[in-house]
Amino acid sequence: MGRLYNVSQRLQVSPDFSDQLYQLTTSLVDVFNYIQANQDKVGATSGHRRLLQANPNDPVFAQALRGFIKSGLTSPTLAGALGDLTPIYNDVDTIVDLVVDLFYSLREVASRANEIANTQTNFHPREVPKPEPPQPDIIEGLDNTSIKVTVRANIPLVVGEADDPLVATPTPSSSSGTRRLLQQITVPLPAGFTPQPPSSLPAVAIPVVWHILRYRNADGSYGPPGVNDACAMIQRMMLIGNYRLTPSKIQLWLKECRNDPNNPGYQYLTLPSRDSWLNCATGDYFYNKCGDLIRPSCGSADYPRSINFYIVGEQPPTDYVGYAFVPGATDDCFYGHVMLSWTTVSTSGVNNRANFESGVSGLVHEVMHHLGMDHTFSDGACSDADAASGVMDTPPTNNPVWSQGWAQKAYLSCLNSWNKILVSDWDGANREASRRVGIPITDQNTQFDSCPGLSGPDEIANYITYTYDICLLAMGHLTSGQIQAMHQITANTNPTLYAWAQYYATPAGLPPGVTPVPTPSPSGNSCPAAKTDRGCTCSTKWNFLGKDYFGCQTVPGNGNGGPWCQVDKAAGDCVRARNGWWDYCTPVSCPGGPSSAPSPSPSPKPAPTPSPSNAPASCGAGAVTKNGLTCTAADWKLKSSPTTYKGCANPNNDPKGTWCVLAKGQLSPAGAAWDYCQDGCNTAAPPSTCDTVKGPFPCKQECQRGISISGQPAGCVCADLYSISFDGYGTSYSNQRGCTIFSETGSGMCVVQCTNNKRANGKAYACSCA
Ligand SMILES: [Zn+2]
Repeated sequence: MGRLYNVSQRLQVSPDFSDQLYQLTTSLVDVFNYIQANQDKVGATSGHRRLLQANPNDPVFAQALRGFIKSGLTSPTLAGALGDLTPIYNDVDTIVDLVVDLFYSLREVASRANEIANTQTNFHPREVPKPEPPQPDIIEGLDNTSIKVTVRANIPLVVGEADDPLVATPTPSSSSGTRRLLQQITVPLPAGFTPQPPSSLPAVAIPVVWHILRYRNADGSYGPPGVNDACAMIQRMMLIGNYRLTPSKIQLWLKECRNDPNNPGYQYLTLPSRDSWLNCATGDYFYNKCGDLIRPSCGSADYPRSINFYIVGEQPPTDYVGYAFVPGATDDCFYGHVMLSWTTVSTSGVNNRANFESGVSGLVHEVMHHLGMDHTFSDGACSDADAASGVMDTPPTNNPVWSQGWAQKAYLSCLNSWNKILVSDWDGANREASRRVGIPITDQNTQFDSCPGLSGPDEIANYITYTYDICLLAMGHLTSGQIQAMHQITANTNPTLYAWAQYYATPAGLPPGVTPVPTPSPSGNSCPAAKTDRGCTCSTKWNFLGKDYFGCQTVPGNGNGGPWCQVDKAAGDCVRARNGWWDYCTPVSCPGGPSSAPSPSPSPKPAPTPSPSNAPASCGAGAVTKNGLTCTAADWKLKSSPTTYKGCANPNNDPKGTWCVLAKGQLSPAGAAWDYCQDGCNTAAPPSTCDTVKGPFPCKQECQRGISISGQPAGCVCADLYSISFDGYGTSYSNQRGCTIFSETGSGMCVVQCTNNKRANGKAYACSCA
């Protein structure tokens, strides 16, 4: 894989790399399609060897390959690709070099394709169908009729109310719907509270009880690493998940997080060994492997008012993100629990931005199953798979996004949306998710259609299909049909949870300490010149398709992404309007102003505690960090070094400055257990972590900018992060930064990154602090 690393560095050598990623990757797809279609033409003189068998070190063949690719690039077939690539890589020979190296790298990857495909397939398997309780498909109608009503077992209708003339027929009458709901509630509601029928889509706040399974290590400590912070990790995941669920008016709140192994009632949380813990979720579903600990524990955990989540196992060897029953049962908590792997929950796993919030995607997906949603895709047939759940507004698809021939382009278009439309703005992603209802325009790409001829292209970002996390981040959504069906099915299958969740959603019902999901606040909302999501000023009055609009407004028929406006370019504050003229915004009501849109009453998130501007920031134990969090009061150290620190320090010469381990239970917005310190803490030189003669090695040198590289590689500096290995010693070191003294060399050495110096880029050179 060394070659792939090298190629990736060269790809990124262009300063425009991320801006041009979409053009670059789609052009390369065209180039490789050309290679595939014409591969017979390569190396004809050297005996018709096929590309896939050719030895990359054979100079004759390499020459032939270069010639072949160059003639392709300069042919009319690839004129478009060459046009896109040339502004990035200057000349055709550079592009040929790049394509050749990329070809060999990808061939190496391809040789491991089965391994990679297995990993992906296993990553999120199909949910287990709920073991069918003995439940007839045919429900008898009233005694005095001969009507038989056929229903699917997983959407039971409410039947059997003697005084109801409309048995088994949904009624639009809300009083009747409420009466049915009330009659099935097993935990009496607070006096004076009457729930609404699901057809009115009431706000619901569902309590969740988490059971964090852990294991005992041989030395008496507990695993998995980080398990003591699990409840904070869960809160992070639920907060972001709630943004995605906001359009459904369904929210989750943390009723209980069971993570205390010393609580006498929680003996079931601790498994005797790491092996037994892994084994509980490996080879088969958790409830089959270790189901005996579920029923007693879920029964005592506020069932059926709450959803019970169990956290256990790690990927690999666990080969699933989690599972849920569709829908979660109300009569037996064993069939009503949800399981997620520790990898999904852990901020060192995929509950973080580095993995495009994959943990959040898993949570939302399984919650939707629990509330009755089937996958939007069918298995190998263009049928309407989720019609059985009552969802009629998702297009039929044939298999999930991952399985499609266009999956790669779908991934790239999601990445493009994230980079270009959301401008990689995490707060903006939450804001968009919290108001996106229905299939957004960006997810109606006719290139991505597994069932041509049937209504609509495939959704690549429905929360309940199998797709890439970047797609859910960029354009994840629920449809109106899904929202209505989740309310309806939950009211039918779990009326206790549904009614109580309505109570919890009222101001009186909200338990102390639980706050509703904050609206990510657009910066600088002012009246009347409301700012859009990208900081532009809305035009006071604007015209769209012959109608006048005022400020930030919802436009009927063009409101998939929420309210928007034409930006006022004359205000001079708009750098990036969408398509140059419009942007999403949050409406504000102005006293006497023309905007009639109601204020969504955003509750701005608390600003990080500012540091006093004139006094130096406190940098010791308990110091406030850049994100307004708190450094741990305890001493801390790096795993690899015995040196301990108090408060802010820079033991790894992080060029972004000092940082600290956070107080227990706190996590940075990126999900890390550490955070950078305030700028005032960066004035002093970081303490030395090693002696350049005595070690310990590898010993990072102090210099940040005054590095000189020997061997005259012009335009190069020591890379920020690299791996290095010493063949003669059989040693290798990963995660190295800057100029470092290795015991193998006894002097400074680093891998360099270079601008406009392909020859030196990615190679190791001697270095010293000037
Ligand atoms: Zn699923």
